[in-house]
This record gives sequence, structure tokens and C-alpha cells, in this order.
Amino acid sequence: MARVALVTGGTRGIGAATALALRDAGYRVVVTYVGSVEASTEFARQNDLSAYCWSVSDYEACVKGVARVEAELGPIDVLVNNAGITRDAMFHKMSPEAWHQVIDTNLTGVFNMTQPVWNGMRERKFGRVINISSINGQKGQAGQANYSAAKAGLIGFTKALAQEGARFGVTVNVVCPGYIGTEMVKAVPEPVLQKIVDQIPVGRLGEPQEIARCVTFLASDEAAFITGSTLTANGGQYIAG
Ligand code: NDP
Repeated sequence: MARVALVTGGTRGIGAATALALRDAGYRVVVTYVGSVEASTEFARQNDLSAYCWSVSDYEACVKGVARVEAELGPIDVLVNNAGITRDAMFHKMSPEAWHQVIDTNLTGVFNMTQPVWNGMRERKFGRVINISSINGQKGQAGQANYSAAKAGLIGFTKALAQEGARFGVTVNVVCPGYIGTEMVKAVPEPVLQKIVDQIPVGRLGEPQEIARCVTFLASDEAAFITGSTLTANGGQYIAG
């Protein structure tokens, strides 16, 4: 039976590209979303994916959602923690709500989704957890103290959990995309976006499929020896040590 892969926020942008790449690699793919009901169900229907709606920031909803998916499709073998939001503001103007929304979704959401699948992966002696962080979690970004904190947190989370999962055949890795041409980035005003592109040595934004291929590799049997690793894909914009 084909492995089951769940991609949070898998109906748009990087998540959607990842879902399609995993499907094409032979997985049974589940995508989750939170708000865009019609577009998400249509995307799932057209692409032969199973779609479920709950917020990753709600722990109880994640526990129930994972239980439902596993009852309907079987154990989740691959978890891609992709769902993420931005609520940008310079720190002196950042509201507590903007801080908490981003931490709750981008960091606590990863705890909420990983814990319900973790014991099953350990017991079955196989699992892949792949977290989507960001270049801005590696280098920090003015106007994104909340987002940079959450995304840097994911790197530490990945390194710690990788050590716990290794002897159970469960790998945990993190992908740090640079600027990718999705709705999240297209929302950036054009002059600002041009300045960003000017800082990317390859001279363009990344494609969602370029991140999807990183995830598909980390999910594969070929990546069994890779755990606790940070895979940077940013066109050379930030070359981490
Ligand atoms: P998009 O804004 O295009 O899509 C975000 C997805 O996350 C949507 O499917 C959305 O669901 C879902 N989502 C948001 N909040 C929740 C929630 N509380 N519960 C469940 N799902 C949720 O994002 P991108 O594709 O651009 O980004 C994907 C990931 O990659 C994010 O973690 C982002 O931080 C990261 N990233 C993106 C970069 C980029 O340049 N685009 C660069 C570096 C990292 P719905 O459609 O229902 O709203």
C-alpha cells in the first residue's frame, strides 16, 4: 500500500506544489487548509487528493483531525508542516495579536501537528517529518520579528526532535526556502519585491516546485541517513554556515 503523506496548508503555494509532487511520487496525499473552503475542495477534487479543514493552531482540532485522517486513509507516514502566515510590522508597532497569531500558527502549529503522528511513527519504525521554515528564520528580517522567531524556532525544534526520532527510523528535517513566487510573496508591494529580487544572486524568485522537490527527496527512502538537517533553497541569497 502506498504511503500516506499529509501536507498542512497544502492547497495553495508551496504546499500545493508539494502535495502534487508527493502524489506524482506515488504517495496517497492528504492536504489541509483553514479558510479557503471552495478553492481548496476544488483543488483537491481536480488533483485526486483528500482535503480536510482545521486550524493547525488548535491542538484539539489537530488531534481529532489526525485521528480522522488515519481512520479513513491509514497511518500518516510523512508529515509536511507547511502551513504558515505572516503578520508583518516593525517591532515598535507590532501588536500582541500579530505576535501570537504568527507564533501560534507557524511554531505551535508544528507542535500541534507533529505530536499526534509521533507515537505512531515511532511504533511503526518509520516516519518523515519535514518542516518548512524560511530564509528569514536563518538570517532574521526587519518587520518580521514574529515570523523570524517562529521560523528560527522550527530549526531548533527540528534538531532536537531528530535526535529523539533517529533510532526509531523517524527522520526530522527542515527546509528553508528563500523568496518563492506564491501569494504570500506576491502580496509584497512591487518596488519592495524588485529590491528583494535584486538581492537574489540567481536573479529571480524561486518556484514552489523547487521547494516541493526538496521535500519529496527528504521524504524518500534515499534520504534515510539525513536527519536534523537544514536544507537551504534560496538562490544564493543567504548562505548559512
Ligand atoms: P500561502 O500563503 O500561499 O499558503 C499558506 C497555506 O497555509 C494555505 O493553504 C493556508 O490555508 C494554510 N494555512 C494558513 N494558516 C493555517 C492554519 N492556521 N491552519 C491550517 N492551514 C493554514 O503560503 P506559501 O505557499 O507562500 O508558504 C508556505 C510555507 O512556506 C509557509 O510556512 C511560509 O512561511 C513558508 N515560506 C514561504 C516563502 C515564500 O516566499 N512564499 C519563503 C519561505 C518560507 P487557506 O488556503 O485555507 O488559507
